[in-house]
Amino acid sequence: MSARPSGTSAPKPRPRSRRPVEPARAWARSLQRRRPGLVEFVIAGLSGLYGVPAPAQRLDPVSELVLTILSQNTADLNSERAFEALRQTYPSGGPITTHRMLRPDGTEAPPEGWGGVGLAPGAPPDWAAVEGEDVGALIEVIRIGGLANQKAPRIQAALRAIRERSGGYDLGFVAELPPRDARDWLTTIPGIGRKTASIVLLFCFGMPLMPVDTHVERVSRRIGLAPPTAGPDEQHEIYAHLLAPDQFYAAHVLLIQHGRRTCDARRPACDRCPIAPRCRFFDPRAE
Ligand code: SF4
Repeated sequence: MSARPSGTSAPKPRPRSRRPVEPARAWARSLQRRRPGLVEFVIAGLSGLYGVPAPAQRLDPVSELVLTILSQNTADLNSERAFEALRQTYPSGGPITTHRMLRPDGTEAPPEGWGGVGLAPGAPPDWAAVEGEDVGALIEVIRIGGLANQKAPRIQAALRAIRERSGGYDLGFVAELPPRDARDWLTTIPGIGRKTASIVLLFCFGMPLMPVDTHVERVSRRIGLAPPTAGPDEQHEIYAHLLAPDQFYAAHVLLIQHGRRTCDARRPACDRCPIAPRCRFFDPRAE
C-alpha cells in the first residue's frame, strides 16, 4: 500500500452529475408510484362503458390532415361539409377512401373519436388544384367549415410542404421517421400544432403520440392523470411517458368519448361513471 505524503488530504469524491428530470417524465413516474395501475383502470373502465376501441384505417393521410385542419375550432359536422365542398369543387379520379366504420351488423358508424357522422366514401380532392387555387376562392369553397380565412392558407401551406418534401401529395415518408421527428416535421407547417400532427400520425400510422383535445384535457385533469394546471402540450408530453405504445389509441378514443358522453364540462354524470372510485374530481383523496 502506498503511503499518502504527509500534509495532503484524501481527494474529495466528485459529486455525481445529475441530469435534471424533465417535468413530464417526473410527473409520470410519480403518478405510477403514487397511484399504481391508474391508466389500466381508466382504460378498462371506459372500455366496459363504450367498448374496446379497435384501430382502423380512416382516410388517406393527406385527406386526414386536411380534414383535421378543417376541424380546428369548429364542430366536426362543419368540417365534414367543408371537406365535401373540396371534393365537389376539385374532383379527382383518385382511389376511393373510407372514413366511416362498418359495424358487425353491416351498418355504418362514424369513426371512433370523431364527432360528426363520418364522410361518405369518396375520392380525395384534386390536391394540386387545391394548392394552386386562388386563396380567396378557396376561402369561399370552405367557408361553411368556419374560420376559412385561417384554414385556407394553412391547407395550401401543408400541401406545398408535402409536395416539396415528397414530390407529390403523399405523406407516406413520415412512416420512416421516429414519431417525434414526424411530429416535429408536421408542426413546422404554419397552423399545424401537436394535436393536428398527432391525430394524423396516430390514426394513419399508428404512432404512439397522444392528441390532446379539449375533452382529453379536461377528463385527464379531473381524474388526476395530469396535474390540475397541465395544458395540452404538457399533457401530450406526460402521456408520452405514461402510456405503453399499444395504449395510445385506446386512451385517446376513450377519453374523448367520455368527455362527450359522460364527463361533461358543466355537468359530469359522476353517478354513472365507472372511473368515480379513482377520480380526484369526484373524491379529492381518491387513490
Ligand atoms: S367521476 Fe365524474 S368527473 Fe370523474 S371522470 Fe367520471 S364523470 Fe368525470
